[in-house]
Amino acid sequence: MKAVVLGSVGYHPNERRHTSCILFPAHGLVLDAGTGFFRIRKHIQTTSLEICLSHAHLDHVVGLTYLLNILRKSDVEHIVIRGEAEKLLAVEKHLFSDLIFPVPIAADWIALEEGPLEIMGGGKLTHFPLDDHPGGTVGYRIDQGGASFAYVADTCVREQPSYLEAIRGVDVLVHECNFRDGSEELAAKSGHSCTSQVAQLAARAEVGRLIMTHFDTLEEGDDPVGLESARALFPSTDLAEDGMEIEIPSAV
Ligand SMILES: [Zn+2]
Ligand SMILES: [Zn+2]
Repeated sequence: MKAVVLGSVGYHPNERRHTSCILFPAHGLVLDAGTGFFRIRKHIQTTSLEICLSHAHLDHVVGLTYLLNILRKSDVEHIVIRGEAEKLLAVEKHLFSDLIFPVPIAADWIALEEGPLEIMGGGKLTHFPLDDHPGGTVGYRIDQGGASFAYVADTCVREQPSYLEAIRGVDVLVHECNFRDGSEELAAKSGHSCTSQVAQLAARAEVGRLIMTHFDTLEEGDDPVGLESARALFPSTDLAEDGMEIEIPSAV
């Protein structure tokens, strides 16, 4: 299983990174549709797209308005957009209001339901609630042929994270890390997390590899979160970069 990071920053793009988006090209599966979503055309290998939203904040959904060009200049014919029911309604009503984006998008909007979803090419997708981000967010987990992957977008890391068991033992965890250590108060206030909190969570959840993402957009350098302090707590930590390919090895 292979994923490509198309956007790895929060809030707004900077000179180096676009906002949240991850594509599984062979599965036509997209996790979040931030500004990095425009890059899909270059990578897509399928004629349908399944877009799963963590929540409806603009840095995760604005890319849906770029779908017209993807439909115009690729082989994509069928699009499904999934998310929590009230988030989908908000996006349809407001982002696709005539006064904001006057062209309707030919997509099926389907609210997330309990239980796993089959993904194209085999494998299952499950979702689970995250913690203390304004309006609420969901994380996703993909299991395919013995390989496992989890995506945890905007969340705080509580002392007892509600989603700990949902991500336990995954081969690859992509987890938000909006702030460096020292910004715990701001992180708690804005519903985000800091470096050591995320690295400790990865160790506790016994994941194979941690990839931090959704960085503070004001951090434009090579190391937006203090990678060495993360590695001191969880050695198998890397930082997402736009264009980064993630191989999720299959155990079977
Ligand atoms: Zn965000
Ligand atoms: Zn958010």
